[in-house]
Amino acid sequence: MRASVATVAFSLLGCLLVAGGGAWAFSALTARPASAHLTALSSGPLPSASIASADGSSSVSATASLTASGAVDVEVPSIVGKPVKVAEALLTAAGLTVQTRVSDPPAAGVSADQVVAQYPAARALVSAGACVVVTYQPRTDAGQDPFVVVIDPGHQKKPDLALEPIGPGSTQSKERVAGGVTGVSTGVPEYARALEIALKLRTVLVAKGVKVVMVRTANDVDIPNSERAAVGNAAKADLVVRVHMGAVTDASLSGISTLYPSGNKWVQAIQAASLNAAGKVQTAAVAATGAHSRGIEGRADQSGFNYSKRPSIVVECGMMSNASEDARMATTAYQQKLADGIATGIMAFLQGK
Ligand SMILES: [Zn+2]
Repeated sequence: MRASVATVAFSLLGCLLVAGGGAWAFSALTARPASAHLTALSSGPLPSASIASADGSSSVSATASLTASGAVDVEVPSIVGKPVKVAEALLTAAGLTVQTRVSDPPAAGVSADQVVAQYPAARALVSAGACVVVTYQPRTDAGQDPFVVVIDPGHQKKPDLALEPIGPGSTQSKERVAGGVTGVSTGVPEYARALEIALKLRTVLVAKGVKVVMVRTANDVDIPNSERAAVGNAAKADLVVRVHMGAVTDASLSGISTLYPSGNKWVQAIQAASLNAAGKVQTAAVAATGAHSRGIEGRADQSGFNYSKRPSIVVECGMMSNASEDARMATTAYQQKLADGIATGIMAFLQGK
């Protein structure tokens, strides 16, 4: 069947607000002739622009107050056809601001979450910080695949101290499953607390329509970190969330941090999306709990990341070396806040918000 034309009309007001206000919208005037047609790009008040993809399967029209202020120094990446969260990560990495829109009506023959149009076009030259409007295929129809999240509760009852390569083919090795930490006031081990929080997180995500795959639902298992990553790969996870707690010698330190894969050859393909997820989960988890934010951190030394082909994060839910935070994490109410906050961040990532 011939693909129908999906047309999206929108105002760019949101983009302008997101970008911090000011007179500019974007400088599409310098767009190179590429796979898209840009029209009506004269300057002046409220010009309009339209863009159509090369095969004519989708188009976008926009009206913007267009001024030519600012240096033109960023080339807009090509994102049509990519998953929206990957597109968002690419644009953010290029120093651009992103506004996402669902395609209404949905474009024919395009899978859920794929970008169907972008504005400005790929290869347009714009000012740093300029807004790119990303239109993507919604997941609204019955029969669309749900988001898949793999939850890996960290560690296990008996550590597995046999070694495995730290990444595929590596000569450097690491324990298959390290022992984890223990609560200074509760005496509860990390593996048990991690499972409690992970199960609550599962419940929250399932209620939001997410398909959840658990790496483990019992404590007495033996699953090396490489195999945990393989679970996420096999499930084609949209995101792998590893639930951990931390401990440090300074017992006064507390708070949440989120780790993401970074800085080695194995994780290059998932680094940008994982960073995006880490930022959103960290922000939402801190907001939901009121915990101190210990920030996000890129890590090259995590086997669970290095074997993963899917975007992955570790949420360090709190410091078990801090007596009051350890006690707080033992309560159902605080665990629920953690689960709610982490889930909010996950959904923001999955939905490209
Ligand atoms: Zn741990």
